Amino acid sequence: MDKRILIVEDEQKIARFLEMELRHEGFAAAKEENGLKALDRIVQEEYDLILLDIMLPGMDGITICRRVRKLGLSVPIIMLTAKDSIEDKVQGLDIGADDYVTKPFAMQELLARIRVALRKRQADTGKTLRQEIVCGAIRIYPELYQVQVDGTSIELTRKEYELLFYLVSNRNHVMSREQILQSVWGYDYLGDTNVVDVYIRYLRTKIDNPFGYKHLQTVRGVGYVIKDE
Ligand code: CA
Repeated sequence: MDKRILIVEDEQKIARFLEMELRHEGFAAAKEENGLKALDRIVQEEYDLILLDIMLPGMDGITICRRVRKLGLSVPIIMLTAKDSIEDKVQGLDIGADDYVTKPFAMQELLARIRVALRKRQADTGKTLRQEIVCGAIRIYPELYQVQVDGTSIELTRKEYELLFYLVSNRNHVMSREQILQSVWGYDYLGDTNVVDVYIRYLRTKIDNPFGYKHLQTVRGVGYVIKDE
């Protein structure tokens, strides 16, 4: 099957050029110009590689890259950076990108880097078993963005998944609403802190109540904790 590449780029000319060139090379290329939508697509659709511009409407490329890695997704990411401006920053920051290419780039160079990233990933998946996080009766498969309880697959929305992933990553530690809000919804979230309680309730009705478990516990006046027994 053709390797699927998502081009996240808001400059139409560059995006169209990349799409055309990649298709010509036999890749299945798709493009997305909005950062927020790009994050959704990366999480929900399966891509073999992401080309990620930095300055984007909705959400910038560095934040997208960080979030993708925080979710445990290992899809190769090549950053497209503007000449001399952000290059050093990307290089210096540990944002979890596999590689970066400075604009304007030579297509042959980009293609070579894409092939290297794809080969490297293939070698990695060949030798490592699929990643699995176990917490009590809950199993999370971050690369597949899947959750199972007692072997039953659970359908979660992106926020529910991020909340569960965050609590499981901090298992047995009580997390305050503020901590949860900042980590899962971000510092820029302007809505009500009640959103945490609402999503905890959603999660309970999916991963605990139907199975008679109490993984998710409320610590009155403090916050929430997920227990792994
Ligand atoms: Ca841009």
